Amino acid sequence: MKYISTRGHAGQSAKPEFCDILLGGLAPDGGLYLPESYPQVTRAELDAWRGLSYAELAFAILSKFITDIPPADLKAICDKTYTAEVYRHVREGDEAGDITPVHWLEQGRLGLLELSNGPTLAFKDMAMQLLGNLFEYVLARRGETINILGATSGDTGSAAEYAMRGKHGVRVFMLSPHGLMSPFQRAQMYSLQDDNIFNIAVTGMFDDAQDIVKAVSNDHAFKAANKIGAVNSINWARVAAQIVYYFKGYFAATKSNDEQVAFCVPSGNFGNICAGHIARQMGLPVAKLILATNENDVLDEFFRSGVYRPRKAAETRVTSSPSMDISKASNFERFVFDLVGRDPRKVAALWAEVDAGRAFDLSTSSEFARIADFGFVSGASSHADRLATIRKVFEQYGVMIDTHTADGVKVAWERAAEVPAGVPVLVLETALPVKFADTIVEALGREPGRPADLEGIEKLPQRVEVMAPDAEAVKRFIVERI
Ligand SMILES: *Cc1c(COP(=O)(O)O)cnc(C)c1O
Repeated sequence: MKYISTRGHAGQSAKPEFCDILLGGLAPDGGLYLPESYPQVTRAELDAWRGLSYAELAFAILSKFITDIPPADLKAICDKTYTAEVYRHVREGDEAGDITPVHWLEQGRLGLLELSNGPTLAFKDMAMQLLGNLFEYVLARRGETINILGATSGDTGSAAEYAMRGKHGVRVFMLSPHGLMSPFQRAQMYSLQDDNIFNIAVTGMFDDAQDIVKAVSNDHAFKAANKIGAVNSINWARVAAQIVYYFKGYFAATKSNDEQVAFCVPSGNFGNICAGHIARQMGLPVAKLILATNENDVLDEFFRSGVYRPRKAAETRVTSSPSMDISKASNFERFVFDLVGRDPRKVAALWAEVDAGRAFDLSTSSEFARIADFGFVSGASSHADRLATIRKVFEQYGVMIDTHTADGVKVAWERAAEVPAGVPVLVLETALPVKFADTIVEALGREPGRPADLEGIEKLPQRVEVMAPDAEAVKRFIVERI
């Protein structure tokens, strides 16, 4: 499989393959990588895949996108990644070996697709764990090393650290805002004692940490000399890994491949639902993709109006579903590429506006007139909606859900009339409630339960360097440790 850029120029004279783009970020022209075409899944394949384990299914799907790793090696990587030991936080009563079981709220009608059973209790683990094993494999094959630099307000940083800990050839330098994460989130990250994991708490806000990452990445000489890399949400391998659980969820929710499902996806950077879009383009029978945002509704606005208006940092609201607090959606360009008929000139023109801080408007375009063909429906949720939804789900079904999943359930209920009768709706469970305990207490007046293996982690010794928000100091810190 060859890869292309959404803006037309993938860089090499020959189009790159999977391993060429695995360790990089943006394409050289500033676009995002996508496969040259989406592999089509035949009915015979769907029939054969229905009974596969998660690891087997991951191999079957990923081998369509990854053709430059020998199949036996890719199979071993999938087998090592998707185990019941790694994804060990499955809800009581659900099958541990399923990795991503469906937990029905209403049997056959409304269910949670459990994606948060990995080590850091959020769906980021689904892709990040695979990325850790792919990085180690490809770096060893090439005799290279990488120093991952990132900034996190919580979920991504911990998922990256748990995926990369102890991996040969990989070091992680993760910046976080000093004192602003919850005690649980701090303990999750800072208690890691692995030699290749470095936590840096910056005395500032998340944006200060993010600015340091940008400053270091824009220092091209430093970046090249010190092999600085990233694992952010535009990484193609992360999107590819996420395609798998749409197929797995489909098989769990249906009895035959003549049926359809709908997915509702709590969204921020459009990475998760982009994988659902690709699964649908491959031929998975998906009736609707329901996109849920919180108060930061830039994506809901687009799907309702055709206007994409990235917000200024000052317009971005701090909410109780913080992993969806985004001002622009970094993966959205991948969908728009498909929407405009895969015309890179059109995408480049639209993103010239976005990169200049302006909106674009497709409302009167022939492309937006066909938006329904892509199956998208959208809605937004607020703090009051989250509290009410967490309460209602707990009272009606005895199930505790996190704030992001609550945004999903709220929008799934609201848009139910647009899903064809008899089609089950799966809401993607993107985190477990214990990660956002304050809001659970606000909604229910009680603490969420905590998995036994995470009991008391706040008391473990922590390893973190507190630093002023100063890019030069961070560079010195990195150089001294590699
Ligand atoms: C990252 C994240 C999201 C948003 O996912 P995107 O791929 O950025 O759309 C939603 N919920 C949780 C808990 C997350 O960590």
